[in-house]
Amino acid sequence: PPILELRDVSAAYGPGLPRAVDRVSLTIPRRGHVAIVGPSGAGKTTLLSLLLRFLEPQGGELRLAGTPYSALTHAQVRERFAYVEQDTPVVPGTIGDNLRFSHPQADEDELRRVLAAVRLDDPASGIAGRLDEPLANGSVSGGQRQRIALARAILRNPEVLLLDEATAQLDGLTEASIHASVRRQAEQGAVVTVAHRLSTVVDADVIVVMEAGRIRTRGTHSELLARD
Ligand code: ADP
Ligand code: ADP
Repeated sequence: PPILELRDVSAAYGPGLPRAVDRVSLTIPRRGHVAIVGPSGAGKTTLLSLLLRFLEPQGGELRLAGTPYSALTHAQVRERFAYVEQDTPVVPGTIGDNLRFSHPQADEDELRRVLAAVRLDDPASGIAGRLDEPLANGSVSGGQRQRIALARAILRNPEVLLLDEATAQLDGLTEASIHASVRRQAEQGAVVTVAHRLSTVVDADVIVVMEAGRIRTRGTHSELLARD
């Protein structure tokens, strides 16, 4: 079965309030990149909360690798995901400290592998790429922070990598480099990104457009452009 299946999923924040997510059906395959885009208020964050099980649906069903969420614990759901949000802070210390922060058991080889995966081993990243390199206080750029956050997430070997506006505040070159890392991750597992601009998800395999809690349309970037 696919890694995630949503069937007619609905959620509201209270009785009498409109549905923030309204009968959404969606399949996320084991590999590849699915992007969810839509204007502010479309229901994207609510959908992420449902996937991560921070929120229970009022209707419909979510399945993880074929098993209904209702038959799993919250921890069993969350351990299959890694989550990167906008503008993740770094912890004081070295690059290695930042990676080991959530993975104290990771060995040096694994840490080097993820540094390379997000191109933090490249001098062009502005970081020397040594695990014992201290992060200069207060001068870690947004791009460097997002690479570190992505490295930390990839270190979990997640079946699903969720990115919430993870490149929204970056310049074009940095964004392109992070997109390349995301594409490589999408060869190993599922990647789901959420964004409000279509231009940040041009290379996704499928783009799902949400509006007022519903899926309005879906397709590749060129399919969506050809339709409008
Ligand atoms: P997006 O992430 O696409 O901007 P959201 O999922 O945050 O959209 O919001 C979808 C709808 O749910 C909006 O109408 C929003 O006002 C409403 N909403 C979101 N969070 C809450 C909340 N905690 N309480 C009440 N309404 C909420
Ligand atoms: P479990 O359900 O197995 O406890 P958690 O989701 O709570 O799994 O995560 C296990 C560890 O990984 C925790 O220390 C948590 O802080 C960390 N973690 C979770 N998500 C991320 C992420 N996206 N990036 C880095 N560390 C994470």
